[in-house]
Amino acid sequence: MTALACLGTAALTAGAGAARGAAVHVASIALAEPLSPLTPALCPVGALPDGDACVRIQSDDDDAPDAPSQVNAHHDKRGRWIVYDQIPRRPDRPADYDAYRYPVPCEHGCVVSGYDLDRPDDSQRRGWRLSHVGHGAVDLPQKKGTPVTMVPLEHQVGDAEVVYVGPLFGTTVLTRHTLREGGQLRDYLLLFGHLDAPAPGLAAGVHLAAGAAVGFVGDTGSPELVHLHLEARRIRDGVDIGKVLRTGPGALIDNDSSIVCDPRNVLPLR
Ligand SMILES: [Zn+2]
Repeated sequence: MTALACLGTAALTAGAGAARGAAVHVASIALAEPLSPLTPALCPVGALPDGDACVRIQSDDDDAPDAPSQVNAHHDKRGRWIVYDQIPRRPDRPADYDAYRYPVPCEHGCVVSGYDLDRPDDSQRRGWRLSHVGHGAVDLPQKKGTPVTMVPLEHQVGDAEVVYVGPLFGTTVLTRHTLREGGQLRDYLLLFGHLDAPAPGLAAGVHLAAGAAVGFVGDTGSPELVHLHLEARRIRDGVDIGKVLRTGPGALIDNDSSIVCDPRNVLPLR
């Protein structure tokens, strides 16, 4: 049950108590007296009273709110001004990386480098060892060989599907996830980068349920920096993944095909 569903149950209990209180009040004093403040507010269908406010009941199959993309830009390593789309963290999602579950074991403090493509150019990640400016992902250092297992994303419909296994960000696995968002179904990609190896038998078309093996943490493409690079991207409407992949996996993570997204919008909460 989600936190909000719990809130809904609490509101229901409080509402029932308030209703009982109101009934006693009316019976023992006077029918003509105005309804006391304990009387539950009248709420529309799909909402419950919480004091004098209405709280929307959120069930597990509700949509995520819409998450519009925004335009941002930065100077790349060669000094060119690069304009790109990105989806920042929604205001309803916690900023604290420790609030989320990850595909690797993580108690707290596992994310050493977070999402910064929503920040101004001069606040984005740069370093002589880094090939890119900015970071559209989370980095999770782990011991080499640590198993990476699938986590179901928030509002995901069905299993994830492997769309690519091979070189990209070092040894990489790309998976497709269909999410309910903003009143429609949208496809997202998860990119698992710098793997030591993919899970045995993993290939395009394989379906991965929660807990299924994705691969093993490594440092391919990032020598001696053993970590999982976990990136989330929303496939643009109308993009045919199979067709784009025929151009190569890089085309799928191009701004024309998919929009980089703060992973906190889609990762499951603890
Ligand atoms: Zn990274």
